[in-house]
Formats: sequence, C-alpha cells, structure tokens
Amino acid sequence: MSALRDVLMGPIYIGKGLMTTLKHVVRPATIQYPEQQKPVPPRHRGRHILHRYADGLEKCVGCELCAVACPVGCIVVEAAENTPEHRVSPGERYAKRYEINLLRCIYCGMCEEACPYDAITMGPRYDLADDHPDKFIAVKEDLLEPLSASLRDTARPSAAPSAQKEPRKW
Ligand code: SF4
Ligand code: SF4
Repeated sequence: MSALRDVLMGPIYIGKGLMTTLKHVVRPATIQYPEQQKPVPPRHRGRHILHRYADGLEKCVGCELCAVACPVGCIVVEAAENTPEHRVSPGERYAKRYEINLLRCIYCGMCEEACPYDAITMGPRYDLADDHPDKFIAVKEDLLEPLSASLRDTARPSAAPSAQKEPRKW
C-alpha cells in the first residue's frame, strides 16, 4: 500500500522539486561575493567604526572609558590635548592613538555601550580574514569614518591627516 502511495505521489514530489529549482532561477540564492555583500541585521556587531561630527571633527575625546569597559582589554587609547592650531575633536582632548586588537575582541559591544559620545559603534563588516596576526591590530586610521567628499578639501588641517592615510582594506 505504501509502495503504491509512493508511486502515486512521485510526480507531485518531482513537481515540488522543479518548482524550487525554478524559484531560484528567477531569484538566485547566491550572491557575487565579495563584490556583493548580504545586508546584516540592524543589531549585528561587526568591526568597529570611530565616528566624526558633520564638520569632520572626531567624536572621540580619548577618555578611555571604552578601554576600561572592554572585558578582554583589547583597546588601547592614548589621548593628547587639542590646541587652537591642531584641533581634532571638539573637546579638550582627542585620541592620538586608538587601537583595537581584533583577534582578542569578542565583539560584545561593551565599548559602544560605555562611550558617552557615541564615538565608537559596532559596524556591519564581518569579513575580517587576513594572513598574519599583526594585520588584526586595527589602528585609528582603519577605524575612523572617512571624511565626506565635500569636507575633504575644506576640512581644517587638524582633521585632515587621519583621513588622508590609506585605511586598511578588510
Ligand atoms: S566589542 Fe567588546 S571585546 Fe571588542 S573591543 Fe569592544 S568591549 Fe572590547
Ligand atoms: S571611543 Fe568614546 S569611550 Fe572610547 S575613548 Fe573615545 S570618547 Fe572615550
């Protein structure tokens, strides 16, 4: 009886399989990675981003709260004083050095939570593979938001140097 049922249902199963195939012909299930990347969920925690204000100044003031909050101690911040001739952030100080060891990072988001200025957030990047441990030390130039094209020429000299260095391609 069961064999007869399988014979009768056979064409239906084949039809279902063909429908699945046709569906993916019309709407491919694969993407052309790495040129195309799948969108990540809104709460995805990928590689960090250091943000700027609209005028190009850096939001980070080098307070080190993120480094203190980091449970694995993978953030290094060294602050320096802003001066009228060299102003990098709106506050008194800015992060002269900002580094994250991405191999130690557990992508918990505590640094983002701790920052009082929303200067650091977890970004969308997830494809961080590389061929040497040294390449996983993300320095400030790697993490900093690029200056917008409109600001690139007009930004104060103090805001420009970080942006002019070529960020690492991950
Ligand atoms: S995501 Fe977590 S582990 Fe990674 S740098 Fe931020 S606080 Fe540290
Ligand atoms: S990212 Fe935020 S918490 Fe970390 S040093 Fe900069 S301002 Fe302070």
